[in-house]
Amino acid sequence: MTIEMTFTEDQKALRDTVARFAKDEVTPVLDEMDEKEEFPQKTVARMKELGFFGVPIPEEYGGLGMGKVGYCIMLEELGKVDASHIAILAAHTSLGTSPLLYYGTEEQKQKYLAPAAKGERLMAFSLTEPGSGSDSGALVTEAKEEGDYYILNGSKIYVTNGKEADQIIIMASNDLSKGTHGGITAFLVEKGTKGLRVGRCEKKMGLHGTSTAELVLENCAVPKANVVGGVGKGFVVAMTALDVGRVSLGAGSLGGIQGAMNQALEYAKNRMQFDIPIVMHQAIQFKVADMAMHVLALESMVYQAAAFQDKMGYDPSKWSRSDRLKKSRDSAIIKCLASEWASKAVTDSLQIHGGIGYIRGTPIERAYRDARISEIFEGTNEIQRLIIAADMIERGWVQ
Ligand SMILES: Cc1cc2nc3c(=O)[nH]c(=O)nc-3n(C[C@H](O)[C@H](O)[C@H](O)COP(=O)(O)OP(=O)(O)OC[C@H]3O[C@@H](n4cnc5c(N)ncnc54)[C@H](O)[C@@H]3O)c2cc1C
Repeated sequence: MTIEMTFTEDQKALRDTVARFAKDEVTPVLDEMDEKEEFPQKTVARMKELGFFGVPIPEEYGGLGMGKVGYCIMLEELGKVDASHIAILAAHTSLGTSPLLYYGTEEQKQKYLAPAAKGERLMAFSLTEPGSGSDSGALVTEAKEEGDYYILNGSKIYVTNGKEADQIIIMASNDLSKGTHGGITAFLVEKGTKGLRVGRCEKKMGLHGTSTAELVLENCAVPKANVVGGVGKGFVVAMTALDVGRVSLGAGSLGGIQGAMNQALEYAKNRMQFDIPIVMHQAIQFKVADMAMHVLALESMVYQAAAFQDKMGYDPSKWSRSDRLKKSRDSAIIKCLASEWASKAVTDSLQIHGGIGYIRGTPIERAYRDARISEIFEGTNEIQRLIIAADMIERGWVQ
């Protein structure tokens, strides 16, 4: 077992590039983005130019070929300054491109994955419905076979990037009697397809740079060639994408904790009360120490899990059952822990800021509103605990 964790020169260079971009280009637009609740077009365009939309995708499909480790480095660095940019990238990459990368045909990879990796087409992923959230097998959007097409009818909700995406992975039921085992199919649906329209866009507590859209499907004809991963295999496709998503969410939270910690330290070193900087009070120090402990733990967890996913490769037919189970267990653990530690970090950092932390427009106030969703989306933390417990019951702890 290799236990040393070092980053390559390429990975370090990527970290530097993202850190510079986050500081020089993202930070200045955040106040306006948050206040106006607008998708950050300018910085998204820059992320496309910089290759950020294809970091983990192999070069043969238009990406940078830097794997999940590179992808997590990018999200960690961006997470230090903003969660909206992460959510846009993650909805596109973890959830949008993963189904194509792991389960797409060669033709689908050339036609849809490559332009997505190059940043020419933004992606989204649509599983959730009004009556089907945690219980994703209960989705009722129907896909009826008709000649060379599937005709989709139904309503999907809470789709990140739903308003802006050029192509969307949409989960629909090919057979309502079957549920997760054979009843769900993943479809690649292009924007502009007749019968697909963007409905209501939600107003949210945080993540103001992202759209969270309803998608309405009314007799939307999708070519059979756009079935991703086979008819009835959609649940496996979705869960594979979510395994990637949950580790990447951990990377974003790892950055978020560092951002909250840096802000707390900066403020506490300068804020005087009782004639000393408040950082001298142990009550403040304990909070910062907790953040540092969580950063160290997450660094190991996130990058080990990312490296493990890279080692498994992109062909699911070659994966062993034990590797699959480990991948899902570890990504659930990371998602759960990282999001809860991030919520604690922003709460504690805001407390260290005192009253000013509650004032609209301070970075910690935005970070506090942004962080909460990570305990909910990509599967709530209750669902993550169920995944972890089911594996413990079946296998106990296995390395
Ligand atoms: C900002 C935002 C962005 C999102 N982006 C996307 C996206 O891009 N694509 C997409 O498909 N979806 C997206 N979602 C949907 C998100 O993944 C779901 O909201 C989430 O999975 C929870 O589903 P739900 O809201 O229906 O809650 P419910 O499933 O109704 O859960 C409500 C509560 O009950 C608990 N609960 C449910 N079942 C159990 C159980 N068996 N045991 C214990 N507790 C249980 C839950 O943990 C939760 O606390 C997004 C949501 C938001 C708010």
